[in-house]
Amino acid sequence: MPSYREFYRRSIDDREGFWREQAALIEWQQPFERVCDYDRPPFVKWFVGGTTNLCHNAVDRHLAERAQQNALIWVSTEVEQERVYSFAALHAEVQRMAAVLLSAGVKQGDRVLLYMPMIPEAAFAMLACARIGAIHSVVFGGFASVSLASRIDDAQPVLVISADAGSRGGKVMAYKPLLDEAIRLAQHQPAKVLMVDRGLSAFERVAGRDLDYAAMREQHLDAQVPCTWVESNHPSYTLYTSGTTGKPKGVQRDTGGYAVALAASMTQIFDGRPGETYFSTSDIGWVVGHSYIVYGPLLAGMATIMYEGLPIRPDGGIWWKLVEQYRVSVMFSAPTAVRVLKKQDPALLSKYDLSSLKRLFLAGEPLDEPTAQWIAKGLGKPIVDNYWQTETGWPILGIANGVEPAPSKWGSPGVPMVGYDVRLIDETTGAELTGAHQKGVVAIEGPLPPGCMQTVWRDDERFVKTYWSTIPGRQIYSTFDWGIRDEDGYFFILGRTDDVINVAGHRLGTREIEESIASHPNVAEVAVVGVADPLKGQVAMAFAVLKDASAAADPTAALKLEGEIMKRVDETLGAVGRPARVRFVSVLPKTRSGKLLRRAIQAVCERRDPGDLTTIEDPSALQQIRDLVNAG
Ligand code: ATP
Ligand code: MG
Repeated sequence: MPSYREFYRRSIDDREGFWREQAALIEWQQPFERVCDYDRPPFVKWFVGGTTNLCHNAVDRHLAERAQQNALIWVSTEVEQERVYSFAALHAEVQRMAAVLLSAGVKQGDRVLLYMPMIPEAAFAMLACARIGAIHSVVFGGFASVSLASRIDDAQPVLVISADAGSRGGKVMAYKPLLDEAIRLAQHQPAKVLMVDRGLSAFERVAGRDLDYAAMREQHLDAQVPCTWVESNHPSYTLYTSGTTGKPKGVQRDTGGYAVALAASMTQIFDGRPGETYFSTSDIGWVVGHSYIVYGPLLAGMATIMYEGLPIRPDGGIWWKLVEQYRVSVMFSAPTAVRVLKKQDPALLSKYDLSSLKRLFLAGEPLDEPTAQWIAKGLGKPIVDNYWQTETGWPILGIANGVEPAPSKWGSPGVPMVGYDVRLIDETTGAELTGAHQKGVVAIEGPLPPGCMQTVWRDDERFVKTYWSTIPGRQIYSTFDWGIRDEDGYFFILGRTDDVINVAGHRLGTREIEESIASHPNVAEVAVVGVADPLKGQVAMAFAVLKDASAAADPTAALKLEGEIMKRVDETLGAVGRPARVRFVSVLPKTRSGKLLRRAIQAVCERRDPGDLTTIEDPSALQQIRDLVNAG
């Protein structure tokens, strides 16, 4: 077995040979003529001339060996339902959906926008689009009309698929009025709207435009819709980034490269094997949902769990109950979700039989060591951090499986995954930082490996300008994250480049201060931002959510706790990192995907307009901070 270092090296030094081998993980209709076309940097084409189909590889190809095996397991604690589809049943449902799409006039290359809750029909629709060569664009079901309208205008779909309602914490959230309003606001008008009626919320139908899925499905029960073979570089979908730092970007993904990269990641990173069960707690509205609820597990011949519900309802043990019930072997979640569980009874982590579970993967935000230790100890399982972006579609940094393992290090998402030529760059000079523990921008030398974004949807110029033109003197992909690399080649992500705090000439990542504060036993989560200061340039401000809020119930107790926390920062980072204030709030402002909106907190602290807040989860969280700032 080669060491991971050698395996990885080959993926960079013999790019063509390496990916040619990986390409055999999926089935091709026509073989490709060229592995990698990088004639027009930074645009890259993978597996040029090859034809394939994502749905074929995710569903049809498994029928011969595993038709009766579980493929899609849907569990809803919102409506108290479970539905299990074998690969054969999934195949039938996807063909019905595909037939409905065709009869609604959808053609190859057309966009189909999904605005749906976590129901099986959403997965059928994604796979059906892939089947007929249509491009799906999933918009997170929690977005309101304005966000949805802007995405309708950008994607210009011929069809929108939606449902009457979603449900969250037992509360029905009607989707249809939001959708109708969004279409009213949008310039672009989709010709048809396909409605899945769950019977949760009565809605009005627009005559001539709105179609009923159940009725149309009835007409296509025996549908046989063959896969449309598309060239490897045919776009499979577009998807918007989380909008943490501003206007979301429409990421465009190819077909062949994505299928190969996901299939490779399933064995090389996740150790997911055919016949096992994968459980990702994300939402189909995010990239993790695309790659690791729908496509990745199915490509690998695994069953995948699609869960509609909260992690703490009926209680904080629900996920682990599902792990026991379905013998989950690989699980994927986010630090933000673990921080939610941290406020629950830890006994719930050991109540169920977790013997099937190999590892828990976490991504999406920096994973602080206290949170990682807490969940690792509670579950008695290895926790694997991994770092990536909507743009890349699969992990940039992680811990590889199978090859002589590089052990994980607390606080680090690991080392570069195959195909990613990761560099650290000094953002002002553009010079490459090769020494250990130097801080710089995490960048990727082109070409990006298979599976990454092709371009910004309908905007090549924005792709080049946004991602490839920010480092002085060279064309290299910027992640806009800031990090260091240690002497063993492990990366540590310190925060986003615009979150770096400059205190009296010392540059600190918000992450470093947050980590130090989070090590206080009563801190559940914390956000640190840099706030303009006439004397020091910037000072750090911290907003913390406590596990036990009563500890800061009165002003004296709060001051005492604040002092304790500052002392901790002094001890771990030194006085430069000490925040000017540590304030206590009941909830932090986050995006719908659970990421801290530091940009908005900073603006409020500096009494500026927080800007585009369309992706915020709970506006009252920002109001709490505003009240604290105004009270002084
Ligand atoms: P936008 O680009 O619209 O501002 P976003 O960057 O939050 O939104 P995503 O693509 O969902 O959108 O998130 C990717 C970002 O999440 C990364 O660039 C990084 O900042 C952060 N991230 C993801 N995984 C990790 C991790 N394991 N450790 C640290 N940060 C992470
Ligand atoms: Mg981003």
